[in-house]
Amino acid sequence: MVEVHRIAGGNVNCYIVSDHDKAILVDTGRKKYRKKVLEKCREFHVCLIMLTHGHMDHCQNAAYLADALQIPIAMNGKDRNLIPDNKKQPLSAKSLLGKVVLAVSLRSFEKDCLESFEPTVCLKDGDSLIQYGIDAKVVGLPGHTNGSIGLEIAPDKLIVGDALMNMFYPTVSMLYTDEQQMLSSAKHIDQLGEKIIYFGHGKPKQTHKISFYRQSSTNFPASL
Ligand SMILES: [Zn+2]
Repeated sequence: MVEVHRIAGGNVNCYIVSDHDKAILVDTGRKKYRKKVLEKCREFHVCLIMLTHGHMDHCQNAAYLADALQIPIAMNGKDRNLIPDNKKQPLSAKSLLGKVVLAVSLRSFEKDCLESFEPTVCLKDGDSLIQYGIDAKVVGLPGHTNGSIGLEIAPDKLIVGDALMNMFYPTVSMLYTDEQQMLSSAKHIDQLGEKIIYFGHGKPKQTHKISFYRQSSTNFPASL
């Protein structure tokens, strides 16, 4: 059975997705937490790093961990331009809270260093990770960034990266490169049915009776 292990580093999550003797690491966290993530990885046989998107807080340890574990890095090609410069895709926010988060993120893009790396595995919607020992499927969730992807793990788990957030409450992404795409991705997540959602930020949550798409159009938080 596939298990999802959350590694929280500050307000950013990485996940080890494991099945018996194989595992993959989804996202890598911030530099400050690299030892913690590496130690956790060493408890498993991690054979791939999958990045949900190219933002600093998810990718800052990718080069370090790929080197330490001698494994490849996978991401969607449409986020390739964010490595190493996160400013290559514009970001916007609508809500007041979103604007605060945006200001903090842009400051991080300016002052924090993202070690460059070469993703050697290109992932797109529908790809299976079975060759890495994990029965899971890549889901395209563009909008937060152009190349945002998630991971659907049957029967009831979904890692969404920053397509959704649970920083303060479960919501669609507060920051987006393309708002319409972000809303379409929220609709797509709703259509995947009841799931446990694993966010890039915040605690996992069962989606029972939450419609992220409807919530985004009314601007109310999803059920608290
Ligand atoms: Zn992000």
